[in-house]
Amino acid sequence: MNNHRQRHEGCCACGAVRVLQVNDAPKEVNLCHCITCRRIHGAPFGVYAIFARDAVEITGDTLAWPSSETGRRHHCPTCGSPIYLAFDGVDEIEVPTSLFDETGLFPLPPQYEIWCKSAELWHDAQGRPRHVRARPD
Ligand SMILES: [Zn+2]
Ligand SMILES: [Zn+2]
Repeated sequence: MNNHRQRHEGCCACGAVRVLQVNDAPKEVNLCHCITCRRIHGAPFGVYAIFARDAVEITGDTLAWPSSETGRRHHCPTCGSPIYLAFDGVDEIEVPTSLFDETGLFPLPPQYEIWCKSAELWHDAQGRPRHVRARPD
């Protein structure tokens, strides 16, 4: 099966915002333990597929808020689901893999983990590279 040429769809919990992968597969998949991800996902970490900005189409209105100096997080205004994260001046979109309808779409396990300084002690990184803070350049 060649995931690169397929169109993959997903949505928020209430279905008002839809996500469509229209182009290439993600550049990377990572797992983030940062405090903000913990809070917005209601879970110990978030898992993101990082795409070129034009590889994903979002339909439906989102509410954005600045989660860092350059980061903007977009949520569904109805159900609050996190839809994507983008950084000013970076032509990428980070989409939680859990929004997609299918499981097992992206390389599993993720290629690396970030913000491990706030990871739960019981978490097993299974040998993945672990970065104390943000994604390496
Ligand atoms: Zn929703
Ligand atoms: Zn995070």
